[in-house]
Amino acid sequence: MKVLVINAGSSSLKYQLYDMRNELVLASGRVERIGMDSSIVTHEPVDKPEVRNVSEILDHVTAVKRVIDMLTHPEFGALSHLNEIDAVGHRVVHGGEVFSSSVLVTQEVKLEIRRLFDLAPLHNPAHMMGISAVETNLPNVPQVVVFDTAFHQSMPNTSYLYPIPTVLYRRHKIRRYGFHGTSHAYVSTHAAEYLNKPLESLKMITCHIGNGASLAAIMDGKSFDTSMGMTPLEGLMMGTRSGDIDPAIVPFVMNKEELTLNEVNSMLNKHSGMLAISGISSDMREVTEAMLEGDKNAKLAFDMYAYRVKKYIGAYAAAMNGVDTIVFTAGVGENSVALRKAICDGISFLGIELDEQRNSERRKDAREITTDASRVKVLVVPTNEELLIARDTYTIVKSLESNQS
Ligand code: ADP
Repeated sequence: MKVLVINAGSSSLKYQLYDMRNELVLASGRVERIGMDSSIVTHEPVDKPEVRNVSEILDHVTAVKRVIDMLTHPEFGALSHLNEIDAVGHRVVHGGEVFSSSVLVTQEVKLEIRRLFDLAPLHNPAHMMGISAVETNLPNVPQVVVFDTAFHQSMPNTSYLYPIPTVLYRRHKIRRYGFHGTSHAYVSTHAAEYLNKPLESLKMITCHIGNGASLAAIMDGKSFDTSMGMTPLEGLMMGTRSGDIDPAIVPFVMNKEELTLNEVNSMLNKHSGMLAISGISSDMREVTEAMLEGDKNAKLAFDMYAYRVKKYIGAYAAAMNGVDTIVFTAGVGENSVALRKAICDGISFLGIELDEQRNSERRKDAREITTDASRVKVLVVPTNEELLIARDTYTIVKSLESNQS
């Protein structure tokens, strides 16, 4: 079975085509600047050079058409005919309280995703455009949606409720949802396989640290708590997002600086975090370089970033009454030797003993970075959200086929 994985944004669309017999990527690419006259399609076939194409792509229907054209192109395509695409899997950011697992796209599912537009106004409408565009281009191909929030639906109410008037939860569903669920699910499963232990037997803390960053406490194989909240703003300090702050700062700043709601929202999401503290960049590589060259603000940003991850690890170890495994993943978690060291140093009381040699190795596979004697195992596991989306899509569509036969 061949599965096309799509991550549709409002002006971009990323894709990967998988052959599920061996879970290999046959081709991948992205369409950028949808809605503009100079949209860019970048197609990356396996074993062939990248192809770039600039043209007018005014909507998602045309974007998906161009993707199919690329995939079936006689020279650099990966398919001889579009009917070789057996199923399409979509990343959807918000599944609210309705979806606790991936599902086949039906009229009812589309309606529910629309009902959730309020909770993810920047993401869910774009995902719906992707789903409709596939429907138009590939009307008979089954589609599956995989939600960033679904993995965290197992959280108990002590984790997901906010201590604010409960009418707000009842009326507006204001609660913690958590994000990066596909990544937390993927790396926790992979880490358990690496350790050759059942996931259910491990108390695990997964640290997805990229531009956006979240931690998850995983117990009995399920998400028990996570640092992002109703929106991806809560929790850790991030590239441009503040993470946790005193909520009273919002009205105070609005009043003192005469900011509108939109302005304060933009301040906390786009002009805070590492960017604000370093005054240099939201990018961990640039901040680390500046720190090594002696920049004091860059060092402060780096130290604050690491400190906040460390605090959450401590909190989740307490919340689960212990921790056996800590997993680092995503751009920073997979690559920053210095940040992993800054986080792991000074928490030896938890039973963590970092192996500096293992931590400095630059490898692309899952590996352990603690010593053999370390009671808590710390792993680096490269995330692969697209593969998990492809796997869920395959499983759901396969079971559909066997039910029909
Ligand atoms: P996104 O949330 O956009 O998917 P990524 O998971 O790709 O983000 O992570 C991007 C972050 O990873 C950036 O801050 C980048 O600097 C950081 N990063 C990537 N490679 C390295 C590296 N070798 N050392 C330190 N940080 C890195």
